[in-house]
Amino acid sequence: MGTHTYRVVITDCDHGSIEEEKAEFGKIGAELILAQVQEEKDVIGFCKDADGLLNQYALLTRKVLENLPKCKVISRYGVGVDSVDLKAATDFGIIVANVPDYCMDEVASQTIAMILTLTRKTAFFDRKVKSGEWDFHLGIPIYRIKGKTMGLIGCGKIGLEVARRISAFGVTVMTYDPYLEKAPEGIELKDFDTVLKESDFISIHCPLNDSTRHLIGEKEFNKMEKKPLLINTSRGPIVDERALIQALEEGLLSGAGLDVLEKEPPDSQSPLLKMENVVLSPHAGFYSVESISELKRRTAKNVSAVLTGKWLGSTVNREVRGKTRASISGS
Ligand code: NAD
Repeated sequence: MGTHTYRVVITDCDHGSIEEEKAEFGKIGAELILAQVQEEKDVIGFCKDADGLLNQYALLTRKVLENLPKCKVISRYGVGVDSVDLKAATDFGIIVANVPDYCMDEVASQTIAMILTLTRKTAFFDRKVKSGEWDFHLGIPIYRIKGKTMGLIGCGKIGLEVARRISAFGVTVMTYDPYLEKAPEGIELKDFDTVLKESDFISIHCPLNDSTRHLIGEKEFNKMEKKPLLINTSRGPIVDERALIQALEEGLLSGAGLDVLEKEPPDSQSPLLKMENVVLSPHAGFYSVESISELKRRTAKNVSAVLTGKWLGSTVNREVRGKTRASISGS
């Protein structure tokens, strides 16, 4: 361990540089090791003396965690912590933290980009012009954006950012979000069916879980009276893709903007790939140079904060409080 106060290991990560992490751990004199391992025995081998871990995909099972006697904190690159056995971490007094909001700006802007691409038909025109067709009539009809109604399915951090942006276009915003007690300023809180019925644009911003899987399916498409555009930048399985394809084929929707799909990447035979009124991106909503840099910095900061005795607001296994291996001031 030499002169270092702490030993921190990155189990694995798929970004090229770890400059942000190095800068953060330099501040507390910690040694930082990039292991790039995913096999259980390799993870144990590299991490057995670690005080803290940064983790992307490597599975931190109970078996792994029981072999890390000094580990006080695990911080995940991203929002989900499914790679960590949370119950085991809590049993061993290990704080598990995430970075829940590093890409709100990016996902919200991706959503707006898709609405603008579909309404103004920019991707469609781009394809036409580049193939030698200079004729705006090919895009008829195009409707004005101002005065339309947008329905958000879920209005948390990203939904709110979408609402702020689309409001600047003169669009009325309503949301269906069963967990909101009162409507955020400038947004009308409605029931699910009203949002389906009255929206010109429907955008999904709820998490994927058992109650939201296939939340939008055949029944829901049939309730959409305004032939809306459907945007999904959340998670693919929230929309029943078979029903979506059918709804597009039958004209129940004007178009769709999809950053996420039920199967990523899609089959090369998927009808979605051939539809002129469908705009796709490869689950790219989270990404920008800045969001990744922020993700790396904040993942590292979580670990250095715990090692220097601070409790984290982004702790996922909050029940660990009071029995942490790290000595936390006030805990
Ligand atoms: P958040 O937790 O801040 O907000 C989610 C909102 O959904 C909450 O207000 C919650 O009350 C609401 N909700 C929960 N269940 C619901 C239901 N059944 N119906 C309607 N609303 C419901 O999350 P966020 O930061 O806004 O992120 C939203 C989602 O975006 C994430 O769950 C994630 O799946 C997705 N996401 C995608 C990308 C990407 O790269 N495309 C990146 C980050 C996040």
